[in-house]
Amino acid sequence: MFTIKNHLEIEDGQLTIGGISATDIVKEYGSPLYVSNENRIRENFRRYKNAFPDADLYYAAKANSNITLLKIMAEEGAGADVFSDGELYLALLAGMPRDKILFNGNSKSDKELYMAVKSDVRISLDSLDELKTLSKIAKKEDKVIDVSFRVNPDVSPETHPKISTGLKSSKFGIPNDEVVLAYKEALDLPGVNPIGIHCHIGSQILEIEPFSEAMHKMMDLVEQITRLGVDVQFVDIGSGLGIPYEKGGKVPTPKDLADLILPIFKSRCKAEGIKPKLILEPGRYIMGDATVLLTTVNTMKIAAKKFVGVDAGFNLLIRPAMYDSYHFAVVANKADKTPEDIYSIVGPICESGDILAHDRELPKIEKGDIIAFLDTGGYGFSMSSQYNGRTRCAELLLNKGCIDVIRKPETYDDLLNNQLIPARFL
Ligand SMILES: *Cc1c(COP(=O)(O)O)cnc(C)c1O
Repeated sequence: MFTIKNHLEIEDGQLTIGGISATDIVKEYGSPLYVSNENRIRENFRRYKNAFPDADLYYAAKANSNITLLKIMAEEGAGADVFSDGELYLALLAGMPRDKILFNGNSKSDKELYMAVKSDVRISLDSLDELKTLSKIAKKEDKVIDVSFRVNPDVSPETHPKISTGLKSSKFGIPNDEVVLAYKEALDLPGVNPIGIHCHIGSQILEIEPFSEAMHKMMDLVEQITRLGVDVQFVDIGSGLGIPYEKGGKVPTPKDLADLILPIFKSRCKAEGIKPKLILEPGRYIMGDATVLLTTVNTMKIAAKKFVGVDAGFNLLIRPAMYDSYHFAVVANKADKTPEDIYSIVGPICESGDILAHDRELPKIEKGDIIAFLDTGGYGFSMSSQYNGRTRCAELLLNKGCIDVIRKPETYDDLLNNQLIPARFL
């Protein structure tokens, strides 16, 4: 038995997840399948928490908002970063404490703001216009809502442009030089109580230096708004810590991040004589490597390349198509075999971009083999669709040798969900 990547091991030539053979799981539960390891999720969370013992961690629900996974996060003491009414609904249902839920969003509807106000959660405001809308809604509901502003700190992390969110040109947040004005307005408006400040500079960030720049810029603003009279109770630095998708890839850890930003946070708070809570919002780091997508080889074809056709495509894992992401692929039933050939692994979707893995050196692949895509727990299932009339697959949770189905596979009926057929077609 040896470890292939993190919690994943190879035993008798088989990839195992939480001690159970991937091939056996597929035999019993079908294919494709998302399989998560509860123990690994908890370990990831605790590693992050240990690096930031005094901070609050708000799990970014969009990484995977399965209700059972949210409940695990709530059990671990996490709060939630929610970005929609639906995610708010799920976070509350999972038992997340209301004072540890931050409702984010760059374009919240009035309906969403009403829901957040009625739910007594904190709201991170993304524009002055939204501030005015929220003030009216809160007044109408006779409430005072704790708010922060999402700052666009204008820092540029090295990551894929589609997940870089703190650039000056980004759609998120209030431009750095207008933030103080926003707090001034908030102090004067009824129904809103500005108590925090928030940013999030991007995702899958592997060079952590931009976090130090962001922290400094945030603390510059904290100083200015404190002098305005804002009682700053939290500084939410967002998230974005990357994970090693490539095997053997060295990446910064939560401890590295803590060593970089905590001294800045602490010394600047001390200098200002304030004691706000630090908040971080990890998503990918918690869920990413805890989940494997298991697929089965439908067909092999030798054309311009050796194409391996599997039963999952960008309907279930859009990251390779959307961000050119790399996911390590293992032939689960031949996990100890040496590579023999170069393959491109493609999905069944009618789009030429439906390629899960380009030019991988793998053992000889045949129809019926099980191919596992690793590190698919963040932005995997949560970005899935029914495109091409493909039902979504099941999600399983492994814990101490037991398997729980935490989401059933969809059926054809689900393809008709909420569709109505006008009487003249009946
Ligand atoms: C997506 C998102 C996160 C989570 O980012 P990760 O890179 O997955 O950790 C945190 N905060 C906000 C506001 C987000 O939009």
